[in-house]
Amino acid sequence: MAAEPRCLTPIGVVHSPFRQKFGIPRQPRLAPVEAEIELFPPLDGPEAVRGLEGFSHLWVVFAFHAAGEGGPTVRPPRLGGRDRLGVLATRSTHRPNGLGLSAVTLKAVAPGRLILGGVDLLDGTPVLDVKPYLPWSDAIPDAAAGFAEAPPPARPVHFAPAAEAALAERTDGEDLRRRLAAVVALDPRPATGRTEGRVYRMAFADVDVAFTEEEEGFRVLSLEASLRD
Ligand code: SAM
Repeated sequence: MAAEPRCLTPIGVVHSPFRQKFGIPRQPRLAPVEAEIELFPPLDGPEAVRGLEGFSHLWVVFAFHAAGEGGPTVRPPRLGGRDRLGVLATRSTHRPNGLGLSAVTLKAVAPGRLILGGVDLLDGTPVLDVKPYLPWSDAIPDAAAGFAEAPPPARPVHFAPAAEAALAERTDGEDLRRRLAAVVALDPRPATGRTEGRVYRMAFADVDVAFTEEEEGFRVLSLEASLRD
């Protein structure tokens, strides 16, 4: 007998510097980017998070609220966006029920607030559940990883003089440089349609960032104050 449809109500929302999908790492813990989960009532008090401070990592179950529905196959970027695989063999955002699952670092716990590290989550992502990560059960170091055997390589990132000048004007310039370099190093570009010399733009935290590929890696060309709210 088919199960009854079930309506899921978000328990919170993600506040993340990733203001758009472009630029977000394709899995968690690849770049040192922090985000916050704001928990909604009735889970916004101290009771709901009592005991959580003893855990270093969390599973976050969330909704891919900004992704469309997909079919039974997808083209993973890791395979160059050419080959099709079954959606259930991938971590694609276009999937049945639109559910995402990320193991992230838990940096701090407060009533109604969880501070996360290493996120791959869009700003505004609805959070459906949070569970502690149990290394003795969840970590499987000798697991086979199919077509995704190794983490994506991180390429060198340099900053052009205009980008350096923008960073120098900020009190958090060094921190922003570190986070941005780690994100760009993962090569956020779509797998198809890459052309030499093309300038890519992404919104990150409060800046609009322009970068391009260069011989070894990438060059951040400019950082401008974002006009988005
Ligand atoms: N770790 C999760 C999983 O396996 O379910 C997410 C993997 S998915 C490949 C990661 C990508 O999802 C990110 O690069 C970003 O483009 C996209 N993404 C993150 N949050 C999203 C959201 N709320 N709605 C739609 N897409 C999102």
